[in-house]
Amino acid sequence: MDRVALVTGGTRGIGKAISVALKDAGYRVAANYFGNVEAAKQFTEETGIPAYRFDVSSFAECEAAIQKITAELGPVEILVNNAGITRDATLHRMTYEQWEDVIQTNLTSCFNMARCVIESMRDRGFGRIVNVGSINGQAGQYGQVNYAAAKSGIHGFTKALAQEGAAKGITVNAIAPGYVDTDMVRAVPHAVLEKIIARIPAGRLGRAEDIARGVLFLVADDADFVTGATISINGGQHMY
Ligand code: NDP
Repeated sequence: MDRVALVTGGTRGIGKAISVALKDAGYRVAANYFGNVEAAKQFTEETGIPAYRFDVSSFAECEAAIQKITAELGPVEILVNNAGITRDATLHRMTYEQWEDVIQTNLTSCFNMARCVIESMRDRGFGRIVNVGSINGQAGQYGQVNYAAAKSGIHGFTKALAQEGAAKGITVNAIAPGYVDTDMVRAVPHAVLEKIIARIPAGRLGRAEDIARGVLFLVADDADFVTGATISINGGQHMY
């Protein structure tokens, strides 16, 4: 399998597990990161997967990065839009910057990345796009109007693009993780996290590998009849 897969935010947390799972399955993987240079260096040393630094919220940076990755590895046939941030606050305290940062990084990034690979996927008659949404985009969450709006937007984006890609061999799906044990969730206060875990029927947080398993399924060549779907991977916390 020499298809090229690009994972945004692919050097830490859920993205790292996705990058490694894809590599183990035989794909040629490129992992993106932006702020955490040290983690990216360590990731490449550990896995041998090349890491590319660019800001997914910048269309110009995405465009340049796709050109570079295409030149170095080949055309991107699998895109996993995983990069994401939180900037939590209740609306009456939320700044415009907190709103804007989350919308740009979590939602506009999906446009930026998909737009930069879609023409080549259409020309080749093959493409797999997986967008990482969230349980909080499905159900909403106190203190996260920005994040919930962006993630909810991802689910609409997925369904619309799936319709456009279907006749061209391009599938577009979403995964909505529940609470997964990564740096993002470790930032949640302990008492709040305990309450969250108590509401998860499986009785534990998700592991990054639980999400990677779903991505592997969706990007397979023979998953070509699965498009426009959202797979919830949340230990039974929310059934949508
Ligand atoms: P982490 O905070 O552990 O990692 C986030 C990743 O996104 C990092 O690799 C980070 O890069 C990258 N990133 C952030 N901003 C940018 C940017 N502007 N450009 C490029 N890369 C960027 O998050 P998780 O692994 O927990 O989350 C991964 C995805 O899963 C996110 O979309 C998140 O919203 C979603 N999710 C997570 C859940 C959870 O419980 N953990 C639950 C539901 C959804 P760098 O290392 O350089 O900082």
